[in-house]
Amino acid sequence: MRIEHSIALLDADAFFVACERVADPRLGGRPAVVVADAKRRSVVLAASYEARPFGVKTGMVLHEARRACPTLTVVESHPALYLHLSSEIEKILWDFTDRVEMSSVDEAYLDLTGVLSYFHADAVTIGRRIQARITQDLGLPVTLGIGPNKLIAKLLADLAKPEGVREVRAPDVAALFEQTPVEKLCGIGSRMQAALAPLGVKTAADLGRLPVEVLLDRFGVIGWTLKHMGQGIDHSPVRSIGGRPGPTRFPGRYVADETVIPDEVKSIGHAHTLQTDTADPGIVHSFLFLLSEKVAARLRRHDLAGRVIHVTIRTADFDTLGKQRKISIPTSNGPEIYGVARGILNELWRPNPPPPAIRLVGVSVSYLSPRNAQPPLLPAERRRSDLDDLVDRINSRHGRGAIRPAAQLPAEKFGILTPPIPPHQHDSR
Ligand SMILES: [Mg+2]
Repeated sequence: MRIEHSIALLDADAFFVACERVADPRLGGRPAVVVADAKRRSVVLAASYEARPFGVKTGMVLHEARRACPTLTVVESHPALYLHLSSEIEKILWDFTDRVEMSSVDEAYLDLTGVLSYFHADAVTIGRRIQARITQDLGLPVTLGIGPNKLIAKLLADLAKPEGVREVRAPDVAALFEQTPVEKLCGIGSRMQAALAPLGVKTAADLGRLPVEVLLDRFGVIGWTLKHMGQGIDHSPVRSIGGRPGPTRFPGRYVADETVIPDEVKSIGHAHTLQTDTADPGIVHSFLFLLSEKVAARLRRHDLAGRVIHVTIRTADFDTLGKQRKISIPTSNGPEIYGVARGILNELWRPNPPPPAIRLVGVSVSYLSPRNAQPPLLPAERRRSDLDDLVDRINSRHGRGAIRPAAQLPAEKFGILTPPIPPHQHDSR
C-alpha cells in the first residue's frame, strides 16, 4: 500500500520586513518596505502586508512605491540579520522532523510523514506548533501549506498567506485544481501561461486533462512534467542537503538521510575531454573556469540557480574522481561556481606527489531553483547578477563569447573554444 505523504512548505511572511521588525519593533503595524539602498533608484525587496493594499509590492522601484503610499516607511536591508534568523528558523525545524530542506532564505520544505505518529498528531496540528514556536522564539510570522507532495504544499502556502496553516489531502486535490488558475502552480511563469492559453488551459485541472502528446509536441521533454503538474503529481523528495545537524530525535522514523547524488537530481553540467592529457594546473584551472562559465550561462538561460557544485575529473589512466560541495545561496554566476569548483579540484587533484595527467574535466550544478525566486540579497550578489545579465544580452546580440572572461584564454589557446558564434547560429536553449 502506498502511504500518503505529508509534506509542508513553511514560508515566512514578508520575511525581510518581519526581520527588521524583530530588530526595531516600532516598525510594527505600519506600511513598510525593505530596500538595499534608500538613496538610489532602489527596488523593493519586501513589502509589509500593511503596504500591499496601496499596491506596493516586491520588485517595484522605490519612488513608485513612495508615490503609491506616501506614509511608507523605508528601511535599508540587513542581509546578515536575515541569514541569522533564517538559520534560527532552520534550527527549530529540525526539532520537528529529520527532513528539512531550506529552499530559500525564508522557505523550507518539511517531510512530516515519519513523525505524525511520534507526535500523535495530524500534520495541521504539528504545523501550528511549528508556527507557534517560530513566532514565540523569534517573533516571525510564518505560513505553512501542507499536502501530499511539494507542489501541493507550495500552492497551499501561497493560498494560506499570511499566518495560515492549510492542508489539502490527496483525495481533494482534483477539486482544488478545478479552482486553481494554472499560473498559481509553482514553475508556471507568465511565459508558460501565455503558451498554454491557446491550448485552452486556464486552470491547473485543464492542464492535467490535456493529452500528454499535445504537451510533448508543443514543449518537448517537459511535456511529461507539465502533465504531472496538472494532475498534482510530484515525486521530488524533501532533501536535506548535508543532512541533519546532530543526532536524530526521531529514531526509526526515517531511513538514513540520502546524500545528494547529482545524477539523481536535476542538474546542469558540462564536461570536456581534453585533446591532450595534461598535468599543467594552469590549463586545468582554465578549463574548469570555462566550464563553470558555460554551466552558469546555461543556468541563466533556463532561469535557474543551484546550490550544489560537483566536479568530476578523469585521469589519463581512466580513474574517475568526483566530489561536491553545497553553498548557502543558489548561484548562476560563473566566477562563483569556479571559486567553489577550484576548491573541490584542489582536493581531488593534489599537487604532491606530482598529480596525474588529466583527460577530462566536468562541472555540474544541481539542487536547482528558479533564479530570481529571491531578489539578490547582498550588494555584491546584485552587482554580479546585473553584470551577468548584461554579458548575456551582449552575447546574444553579438554572438556567444563576444564578451568572455580573460581567465578562459589558456583553455582557448589549448584549442577548445571556438571563436564567437554569430547569434543566428545559437541553439535555442
Ligand atoms: Mg516568504
